[in-house]
Amino acid sequence: MVPRVVFGRGSFNQLSEILTPKRLNLNAPFIFLVDDVFKNNTWITSRIPLSYDDKIIYISAAEEPKTSQVDELVEDIILTTKERPSGIIGIGGGTLLDLAKAVSIMLTNEGETKDYQGWDLVKNPAIYHVGIPTISGTGAEVSRTTVLTGPTQKLGINSDFTPFDQVVLDSELVKNVPKDQWFYTGMDCFIHCVESLKGSYLNTFSETYGNMAFQLCKEIFLGNNLSDVESQENLMMASWHGGMSIAYSQVGVAHAMSYGLSYLLGIKHGIGNCIVFDHLEEFYPEDVVLFKDMKMKHNIELPQGICSNLNDEEFDIMIGVALGLEPLWENALGKNWNKIITPKKLKELYQKM
Ligand code: NAD
Ligand code: ZN
Repeated sequence: MVPRVVFGRGSFNQLSEILTPKRLNLNAPFIFLVDDVFKNNTWITSRIPLSYDDKIIYISAAEEPKTSQVDELVEDIILTTKERPSGIIGIGGGTLLDLAKAVSIMLTNEGETKDYQGWDLVKNPAIYHVGIPTISGTGAEVSRTTVLTGPTQKLGINSDFTPFDQVVLDSELVKNVPKDQWFYTGMDCFIHCVESLKGSYLNTFSETYGNMAFQLCKEIFLGNNLSDVESQENLMMASWHGGMSIAYSQVGVAHAMSYGLSYLLGIKHGIGNCIVFDHLEEFYPEDVVLFKDMKMKHNIELPQGICSNLNDEEFDIMIGVALGLEPLWENALGKNWNKIITPKKLKELYQKM
């Protein structure tokens, strides 16, 4: 679990106070990995407390993080700093948060990032790392994983060293998120809750967090009573609780299939989950109805026919990635999941999307 968290509108201003005691020495800088959407946004960047050799590296979130990208960032940091950094601070959505987690791990672990995709493969503690979300939903700020696309698989580095040492939850940072993206990433949270609550891995720990986040999502996306600030604060907390829920259970059908879309077609996580979930009545009947209501209420049009031109080989790649995620299927459908979900069945589902 994340040991330290600050919550509150404007809490971004506490960053200097938070970081100063963590500086190892004057030659050990803090490295800020910042979504390049903020490059010309002095409202945020002017408040990043830079001293000595500290630096900002702007990174595009147009594509999801890759293991090779992490290797390059780590090499660049090693070559341009006098000493190992005092800390890595990720400022952005799930993409930047995952990059910050992965870079902090790879600064203290040998070899290539792809070697650590999996469960509990990390040997040495990461360097101090801080997560500051600027969009809510993925739960990446609280989770024990950093999801990366590698040469052969899209799989997280799941380890006890992955979670942030500190998180700053300042809902003001999300105020300019474009509406479609707000919906897609928000739905990631809603789908985390559904897949956790409807899964066979559910336990009371996950259930309490999942119920809380599920109710918050219903209020945010279907209610009419929240101010903008309340809605932003609630979604930030829903994201956190949804992340806590899956930390001790697992996601399900939508995530497995969305990983396939992402691996083959580069479709991003939030929108990919929405495209898939829209067709999962068979697995999550009541929740798909709620999802469609939310989509309608916010006038969201999802892309159609994204699999219509794929050949058999491409379908096989996508199905292979999805079926490789066994714990997700077992959580969703129980021990005999592979009697229910076959490659043929998956292909039929993908063909509808
Ligand atoms: P993102 O980080 O990919 O960003 C989506 C878009 O929103 C980008 O264009 C970005 O520039 C923009 N954006 C972000 N903040 C903004 C702001 N305040 N104002 C304006 N624009 C802003 O989005 P995401 O959905 O948060 O993250 C998706 C990534 O998270 C995927 O790579 C996925 O694999 C990962 N993920 C990780 C976990 C985990 O537990 N580690 C869980 C779920 C998803
Ligand atoms: Zn997700």
